[in-house]
Amino acid sequence: MKIIDLRSDTVTLPTPAMREAISRAEVGDDVFEEDPTVKRLEEMAAERVGREAALLVASGTMANLVCTLTHCARGEEVILGNRSHIFLNEAGGMSALGGIHPHTVSNQPDGTIRLTDIEAAVRGDNVHFPRTRLICLENTHNRCNGMALTPEYCDAVAELAREHGLKLHIDGARIFNAAVALGVDVKDLVRGADSLSFCLSKGLSAPVGSLVCGTREFITEARRSRKILGGGMRQAGIIAAAGITSLAQMVDRLAQDHRNARRLAEGVARIEGLSINLPEVQTNIVYFTLTGSRITGEQFLTRLGKMGVKTLLTEPNTFRMVTHYGIEESDIDAALSVIREAAQ
Ligand SMILES: *Cc1c(COP(=O)(O)O)cnc(C)c1O
Repeated sequence: MKIIDLRSDTVTLPTPAMREAISRAEVGDDVFEEDPTVKRLEEMAAERVGREAALLVASGTMANLVCTLTHCARGEEVILGNRSHIFLNEAGGMSALGGIHPHTVSNQPDGTIRLTDIEAAVRGDNVHFPRTRLICLENTHNRCNGMALTPEYCDAVAELAREHGLKLHIDGARIFNAAVALGVDVKDLVRGADSLSFCLSKGLSAPVGSLVCGTREFITEARRSRKILGGGMRQAGIIAAAGITSLAQMVDRLAQDHRNARRLAEGVARIEGLSINLPEVQTNIVYFTLTGSRITGEQFLTRLGKMGVKTLLTEPNTFRMVTHYGIEESDIDAALSVIREAAQ
């Protein structure tokens, strides 16, 4: 039985081209800034997103933390969505390590935050209040159906940030999924941001790594924040080599993941006892809920697992499935048969 692992796009394995690139990578000590492969990846990433400079870090979590630590001092505040990955899934790093105060505002089902809600959260100048320093957006939005924020929306938030003297960070763990889904250049999604993070190790299939992008000045400071976190890596060209392959070869194929997610979602919509909001499925993430009362979410999860389909239960009856490199259209059809049977 082939296991169809739809828990996350983080389960992707390096491609043969990546293993080849890793084995040939020219390396040096990157803490001395002497690893040519890391430098090449950082230049390539900066160019790709239209920023002056970039910095390789170990993970998406580290990328976001490096950015919040670089933008904010202790006691300062970040405005972010209540369903954002930074708030929900990064172990409170900004508070634990930076003394930074998260101020959550509601995410709408499409991953946006209303401009009026952001504006209302900006603190006035008052000795009682923390100082607002930063706004964070997430694109695509993991917990909000993997939906993509548009360039127009990101620009509007950037404008609002400027008006209030705030910085804007975009957690773009899956920013290339957003660009591919919307048919826009990734540069247009991040043009108003002061910093951006994106993951190599999700849909782009590299084994390790994320990038932080921004101005040269910001990246110089970010390098120091990375060092504080123990994130200075030595012959990191071993990792960067795979990342170069990701950017060169793995971006356009995300469209296939999106088609597979669509096929999965449309199949789920036809299964009795399951409920899904089809218009919300735009990228590679599919959420659906179990509506029948015959079995519990836990039982459904166990059944699927026994039949070879791995998924995540994100709320008592809500499941998340993510398509990725290694999942073919035929796997989607096989998964749908299993889901149909398990839902009986
Ligand atoms: C996965 C993810 C991260 C963190 O990435 P890790 O590499 O798992 O630390 C950050 N933000 C979003 C939106 C993510 O989906």
